[in-house]
Order: sequence, then C-alpha cells, then structure tokens
Amino acid sequence: MGRALEEVTEVDPYAKPTEAATIPVFARLQAPEGLATKRQLDALGLRPGGQDPVAEVQTRGPKNGLLYRIDLALPKRPMTLAKEYALDKAMAARQTCGICHRRYHYVLPTRLDSCLECHDGTPADPASYIAPPASHHLAA
Ligand SMILES: [Zn+2]
Repeated sequence: MGRALEEVTEVDPYAKPTEAATIPVFARLQAPEGLATKRQLDALGLRPGGQDPVAEVQTRGPKNGLLYRIDLALPKRPMTLAKEYALDKAMAARQTCGICHRRYHYVLPTRLDSCLECHDGTPADPASYIAPPASHHLAA
C-alpha cells in the first residue's frame, strides 16, 4: 500500500538514552575533575541547583554517590531563617524608638536614640511605623 516506510521506522538518533541505566560509574576517588557529590558541593558553598546527576562514584557504603557538574551548581541559598531572624533583630534595634517603642520602617538617626516625634515633636506619619506591642505601657 502507500504507507511511507520511514514513518514506521522513524527513530530520533539524538534522543537521550534512558538516564539511570547509562550514567557512568567511577571507582572510588577516580571521579573526573569538574564533578562533585552533594557533600563536596556543600563544602564548596554550592548546591546541585536542580541538575540531574551525571555520573556515579563508588563509595565504601552499599550505595554509589551521585556526581553533579560543578559548573552547573548554584550557590547555596545565602539566607537561612536563623540568619534572617538575627538580621531582623539587628534591624529592629536600629528602627525602634527608645522612648515610644514604635518600630519605624526606616533606620532612626543614631545620634537621637529616639524618633523625631519624641525628639522634637515632629508628628510621625502613622504609615511609617509599626505600633509597639500592647505590653508596653509608657508615659507619653
Ligand atoms: Zn518615639
């Protein structure tokens, strides 16, 4: 019949072979330069960054280590929650008025140690600060 043969036998010569079966496995300590395990990336301040492992390396353990390309690795996320918390605390100290305890959205002038309203009566824009916690009962 008129059916085109190539339609049936068509094979993409550039198709990627199935992953797991084909990545190379290196003997322990024989992994080529430019590849690193997650642990090694971590020591470099890097993370795989979503790339698939390109090879395996034999370890002393029962499982092979997965190797990632260092040039595709991304820097570890710099901010942990703990760091963010510490930074926020430091910022809070510089943004909070020592007299009325309002926290402003900007850093207060260090020479005053208070907001302008407490310093010289300049009314503070209510949109520019966060009200102090209710537990503070301070003389106005
Ligand atoms: Zn104040």
